[in-house]
Amino acid sequence: MEYRISNRAAVLSPSLTLAIDAKAAEMKKAGIDVVGFGTGQPDFDTPDFIKDAAKAALDQGFTKYTPAAGIPELRQAIADKFKRENGLDYKPSQIIVSCGGKHSCYNVMMALCQEGDEVIIPSPYWLSYPEMVKLAGATPVIIETTDTTEFKVTPAQLRESITDRTRLFILNSPSNPTGSVYTPEEIKALGDVCVEKSVLILSDEIYEHLLYDGAVHQSVAALSPAHKEHTIIVHGFAKAWSMTGWRLGFMAAPEPIAKAVAAIQSHSTSNPTSFAQKGGVAALQGPMDHLKGWLDEFAKRRAYAFGKLNATPGLTCCNAKGAFYLFPNISGTGMKSTEFCQKLLEQENVAAVPGIAFGADDYFRLSYATSMEQIEKGMERIERFCAGLAK
Ligand SMILES: *Cc1c(COP(=O)(O)O)cnc(C)c1O
Repeated sequence: MEYRISNRAAVLSPSLTLAIDAKAAEMKKAGIDVVGFGTGQPDFDTPDFIKDAAKAALDQGFTKYTPAAGIPELRQAIADKFKRENGLDYKPSQIIVSCGGKHSCYNVMMALCQEGDEVIIPSPYWLSYPEMVKLAGATPVIIETTDTTEFKVTPAQLRESITDRTRLFILNSPSNPTGSVYTPEEIKALGDVCVEKSVLILSDEIYEHLLYDGAVHQSVAALSPAHKEHTIIVHGFAKAWSMTGWRLGFMAAPEPIAKAVAAIQSHSTSNPTSFAQKGGVAALQGPMDHLKGWLDEFAKRRAYAFGKLNATPGLTCCNAKGAFYLFPNISGTGMKSTEFCQKLLEQENVAAVPGIAFGADDYFRLSYATSMEQIEKGMERIERFCAGLAK
């Protein structure tokens, strides 16, 4: 039997980060001592008070359909979060709860983009963005950046990429995969270009709380009413509350966009899991006490890995003030990213994601969301691997 796959699906590449994770897990299961730097999730557990809220919801029989856009209590708690942390006024009707930040990105793309539209994506990019743009029938337009600018797009680059077909500009700060964080001034300069050119901004702020070295997060929507009118914020519980498996995210947008996304959800996923939403309410209303310990630990690992990478022959790594990733440059090894990561896995049992997955073939992504012990072991292996190449 020949199965005709739709054009829509046939153009997609499956997620390479998830594939590397799976491969490393398989090797581990086979008894191989793998060091995994591939993961895209915190290695900490969801805080107990969040689990308790979801357990209580289950026990109370909160197990039925909810409104497709989320329970009113959670939409209000999210509106309160934007007010409290970002100085942003959103009505609960402008907030849509989803099955993860990824789901929100996808639905925004489906609500706004179609054939003939262009979506500007800075590279290195989170690997799902271009695929989602393609799923919506639109065309990704990539702006290349390198470590010489800490992977930041300049306003001039953005301006040059805008055409009369441009629909959206995707901004992700702090960034996955680079860990790069735009300063408030840089955010404003890019936001100003979008406002001037009437381009909408999809601002993926999922790493908002994961910052180091005194870096601050500036939501582009909070700069002025005009910026807010041009912005859709995507966010979620996965990273700062370590709730990746809960599948819970949200977005905030101008009313007509929120309405369109709610309609899409009502005909596709319906509501995000009922009791997970109760966990979300607890997360937003609870203390952020857990975060301090996590950030201290992340900062220690980051400093260690950063120092080691820059001391390794053939590698250089630029500063990265957010998320839990470093994005070292491998051009000194003479290899491209797929070969580098494949050999690193085969020879030294170290799993990392080749930069090509993120549109940047001279780099790889190292996630430090793993124990210090693993990082020390992994860095030693990477050093040995690179030293061997230099001979
Ligand atoms: C993790 C992540 C998300 C959201 O993940 P979900 O698990 O779907 O909430 C969104 N954007 C980026 C850049 C991410 O790294």
